[in-house]
Amino acid sequence: MKKAFVYADNAATTRVADEVLAAMVPYFSSLYGNPSAAYGFAGLAAEGVEHARAQVAGALGAAPGEVFFTSGGTEADNWALKSGARLRSARGRHIISTAIEHHAVLHSLEALAEEGFEVTLLPVDPDGLLRLEDLERALRDDTILVSCMFANNEIGTVQPVAEIGALCRARDILFHTDAVQAVGHLPIDVVAMNIDLLALSGHKFHAPKGVGALYVRRGIDLPPFVDGGKQERGRRAGTEAVPAIVGLGAAAELATAHFEREAARVAALRDRLLKGILAQVPGARLNGHPTRRLPGNLNLSFSGVEGPSLLALLDSRGICAAAGSACTAGASAPSHVLTAIGLDAQTAQGSLRLSFAGDSTEEDVDTLLELLPPLIARLRAL
Ligand SMILES: *Cc1c(COP(=O)(O)O)cnc(C)c1O
Repeated sequence: MKKAFVYADNAATTRVADEVLAAMVPYFSSLYGNPSAAYGFAGLAAEGVEHARAQVAGALGAAPGEVFFTSGGTEADNWALKSGARLRSARGRHIISTAIEHHAVLHSLEALAEEGFEVTLLPVDPDGLLRLEDLERALRDDTILVSCMFANNEIGTVQPVAEIGALCRARDILFHTDAVQAVGHLPIDVVAMNIDLLALSGHKFHAPKGVGALYVRRGIDLPPFVDGGKQERGRRAGTEAVPAIVGLGAAAELATAHFEREAARVAALRDRLLKGILAQVPGARLNGHPTRRLPGNLNLSFSGVEGPSLLALLDSRGICAAAGSACTAGASAPSHVLTAIGLDAQTAQGSLRLSFAGDSTEEDVDTLLELLPPLIARLRAL
């Protein structure tokens, strides 16, 4: 039995890039001061944090003062939604989001609903796109916050973020976007897109796990979510994760520098794989939008195949892939995203997500094209 190693689960997490790790190392071993301390040695750590802030801001078209470091995407989403709702609660208590958000958003909204906020979750079309007419129709006088992800982690569909931003700005409604899957992979301009709040996470674009950021547009006095010391200009307490923050900055700069070339390279890998699978596997279908999708994302359904069995077989051949999202792995309920685009439970169960990024190669695609079709045929014959 041929045993390969193909990592095709970059939507779950990515490898820390060599350049990123190299940038971080000094902040573990020699520049280990606490950025809040007054002496020059600690100032070097503080400089590392501020340099990273400028690098992250640069990747978003933001000003450095609009970037606040967090422990990751989940904290950034929690902060944006819970503090954003609190900030605007005197004006109204209605919040709009979509049915296909990550659980960091959906469960934060559930917590807000328990506190008395009213949450409308809009459906999406069969390609996973939010319809702007649906959003316009749902907006009310007491709507204070709209949250729509930039790109979906399961099916890769990229939302009309600029159009949503314009609708919200015209009505002075806060607009938050969970851009965790997009940052480092797609061009983003928070000013042109009228984004008020944006969540990002390092480990989805070759920085370490456990670090992220929230962009907060200047003038929005977002209350803190974590209380304590005066770090992050009094808005996010806790000693800064200096090495991880430095890594986040390095990864943001690296991604911005190589954007177009990398996105085109990764999308070409994905498209070759898709074409090969559609040609070799009868009854395979692509989930998510055919063109408006993340460069590295492929989500497929295979009729008559159980996703978990397919994943186990792939794993036995050294292939890391996902059904649904990593966060729902092991759960027996079909993915809320696949259900929202209209898949029946059985088709949703037979779906596979393959996601590529910076380390993915032509050889990965060759291996997948060699192994996947016969494995599916074998499962269907059972
Ligand atoms: C991974 C992910 C998150 C959570 O980010 P963490 O840094 O892992 O907490 C949130 N939203 C989306 C869309 C994600 O893909």
